[in-house]
Amino acid sequence: MAINVLIVDDSGVMRAMILKSLHMSGLPLGDVHQAANGQEGLDALNQHWTDLVIVDINMPVMNGEEMIDRMRQSNETKDIPIVVISTEGSKTRLEKLKQKGAAFIHKPFSPETIRDTIRNVMKLGGDDEGTN
Ligand SMILES: [Mg+2]
Repeated sequence: MAINVLIVDDSGVMRAMILKSLHMSGLPLGDVHQAANGQEGLDALNQHWTDLVIVDINMPVMNGEEMIDRMRQSNETKDIPIVVISTEGSKTRLEKLKQKGAAFIHKPFSPETIRDTIRNVMKLGGDDEGTN
């Protein structure tokens, strides 16, 4: 199964780094779409079938936390796995994200971290491809 991914980050450089890591991860990628803030992210979710959302926290217009809240309130998007990638250090904020079912990756990150975290949230199998 190819994974359709939406990357939401206000930094184009960061989106490119995440995309590169996804390509290096060996995960079966389908379509990858990008958005620069939470509102654009929600719009993209309306337009494209998405299996996984990778989202930053600090963004203009609508931040990642609000985007996640909105996703969880809608039947169409409430079950989509979410990985937050951020420099966020506040334990309270991270705890809140966990309660919303989002996994967390700290910037800077390695491709392996992204791969393993995605495997976890998408409940994919172990190291061997095709064993799930
Ligand atoms: Mg940001």
